[in-house]
Amino acid sequence: MQKFPRLFPTALCLLLPLTVALPASANPATLADFQALAGKSNHSLTLPVYPLTPADAQAMTEQSIKEADAALAALAAQDPKTLNFENTFAAADAIGAKVGNVALILGTVAESSTDKALRDTANDMGVKLQEWGVSLDYRDPLYRALKTVADAKPKLDADQQRLVDDQMRTYRRAGLSLSAPERADIERLRKDLAGLNTQFAVNINEARAPLDFTAEELAGVPQSFLDSPGVKQPDGRYRVMANITWHAQAIAENADNPEVRRKVLTARCSLAQVTNTPVLAKLVALRADIAHRLGYANWADYQTEIRMAKTGAIALKFENDLVAGLQPKFDQEIETLRQMKAAQTGKADAKLESWDVPYYTNKLKKEKYAVDTEKLRVYFPYQATLEGMFAIYQKIFSLKFTAVEPPYVWAPGVQLYVVQDAETGVPMGAFYLDMFPRDGKFNHFACFEQKPGRVLADGRFDLPVAALLCNFPAPSADKPSLLKHADVETLFHEFGHVMHSMLSRSRYVAQSAFTVPLDFVEAPSQMLENWVWDKSVLDTFAADYRDPSKKIPAEAIASLVAARQATEGYGERRQLSIGLLDLNLHTLSADDAWQADVVKIVNDTTARVSIAPPAGTFWAAYIGHLAGYDAGYYGYLWAKVMAIDMASVFKAAPDGFLDAKVGRRLRDEVYGKGDTREVSESVEKFLGRPRSMQPFLEYVGIKK
Ligand SMILES: [Zn+2]
Repeated sequence: MQKFPRLFPTALCLLLPLTVALPASANPATLADFQALAGKSNHSLTLPVYPLTPADAQAMTEQSIKEADAALAALAAQDPKTLNFENTFAAADAIGAKVGNVALILGTVAESSTDKALRDTANDMGVKLQEWGVSLDYRDPLYRALKTVADAKPKLDADQQRLVDDQMRTYRRAGLSLSAPERADIERLRKDLAGLNTQFAVNINEARAPLDFTAEELAGVPQSFLDSPGVKQPDGRYRVMANITWHAQAIAENADNPEVRRKVLTARCSLAQVTNTPVLAKLVALRADIAHRLGYANWADYQTEIRMAKTGAIALKFENDLVAGLQPKFDQEIETLRQMKAAQTGKADAKLESWDVPYYTNKLKKEKYAVDTEKLRVYFPYQATLEGMFAIYQKIFSLKFTAVEPPYVWAPGVQLYVVQDAETGVPMGAFYLDMFPRDGKFNHFACFEQKPGRVLADGRFDLPVAALLCNFPAPSADKPSLLKHADVETLFHEFGHVMHSMLSRSRYVAQSAFTVPLDFVEAPSQMLENWVWDKSVLDTFAADYRDPSKKIPAEAIASLVAARQATEGYGERRQLSIGLLDLNLHTLSADDAWQADVVKIVNDTTARVSIAPPAGTFWAAYIGHLAGYDAGYYGYLWAKVMAIDMASVFKAAPDGFLDAKVGRRLRDEVYGKGDTREVSESVEKFLGRPRSMQPFLEYVGIKK
């Protein structure tokens, strides 16, 4: 998912749009029909304007910055006696929204345009807008105008108060509430921090570890690897680059010679060790120092304050509870792998080493859980899968999607849909689909927000627009596009982001769908991944394209689940080892952080939670997340555990994953709320109970 960094919050009117049922006679078919329909219920459906040339992209960027600067200067220059919520916080939110919308459009153009020059300019302009966004936090006159209103404590409703509190918190976190010299220190330390973060990333990018082996040493490694460009050397040996993930993986999973596996893993876990060990030590100390100066006990407290976790201690407890919960499954999986090693080596007391785990895991999957994922493609022709998913999402969220002729698209084949509320017919938003690869296009799968919803100055609700950029296999002359099961899961996930965007009904942009905390933003989509593992869901669309009476066999789904669960305990514990080493480094106090032995912390945590890394190595030096997503890695599992918890409510409902009543509650309590309240409250209102780890443990294969 793409997330544009939160610009200045946007805010405006107190009037919420009326939601009235429209006459049943309305039978809209064109975009203009839907726009008229939206107008009747106090909504506005407008599509973004896309730049057609590099000059357009540059002009719209410069224009938006110029207008916003002038508007913000005028805002800050108002007579302090006339300041109120509307002409400060709400006005600033609206000003930020306009620039933010330009940034979103340019972000999409940079990834999707068929014109390279336009993509490049859009990219440059995006950087410019981001820098502008960052500079907003440091505009003193603006800060003083907003603070005047915040300090006067006007009577506000809950959304407005939250907007004020969040914005003042952003200022406090940037150091604006400190004295001038203290603030200057923070700014200087932040610059140092940015420099070290960059250095850490550069050292990772520059790390190389070539290792040459003979064909004999590489026994077991697929021929396709040996034949890959650059692998065979003039002297007849084969070069493995331990820094290239798929190289390292090919050896780790397939090389029969344990010494070869050990050498490659040792090289991999030593990447950037010499350069980045001191950088990480400095980063840890500097972050702790900044946190301390801003009034936090440690860096994790600072980072998690604006997330669901709220404190480093809560994030730590979550991770440690999961470590304990997974223990029996982890032990059992490791023992299975160890026994495989014992059988292969003939040594009953063989010890499982870190370089053995991927090898025996791969063997186990091939021998015991062979699932031919290629064969399953026949059940997932693209069009039927898309329509099947649409039917499901329309049912559970009580919506109607209609394809309309788009006035403009950035590439041939891009489609546009309008979303309506199924009951009232009121338009809810619009989304584009750009689903197949082409030269120069973004090469993953993601939802790109085009425009978040918000209430306009005249009281109308400006409907959200989103775009899905995917790369499914293109259809051929004799075959439709056939998806892998994993592709179907991705489609359900990414379209979940589209739903989140369409359903959010927050008044202010600063509280719209994708502004929810970083450790939550993936959860609504991750939840929907669970749908594609359920037979009754798949039976609504998964059928052999050559003979649609043939549904996907139950055994195929059961095998997929078994294969996933076979090594899930180890997989999650490995994730936890990164989450915990990250938190253990970032919950140190400023005093402790200066003298911390980062190598010992990392290696002890890894050995305790996962499996001891090769001796003398320091794999954290090559974990890019530690510079940029620091004290944040726990968030992946935090969101996943919550997603599975939410999915369990559907599982238990009368109609299972197709239950419209539970779906409606999800729409109203979670998706529709955006960030207008604490997401923990939204999630628990949906669950109807406190959050639980139990459904996740069952998902991993631990029976109650
Ligand atoms: Zn996502």
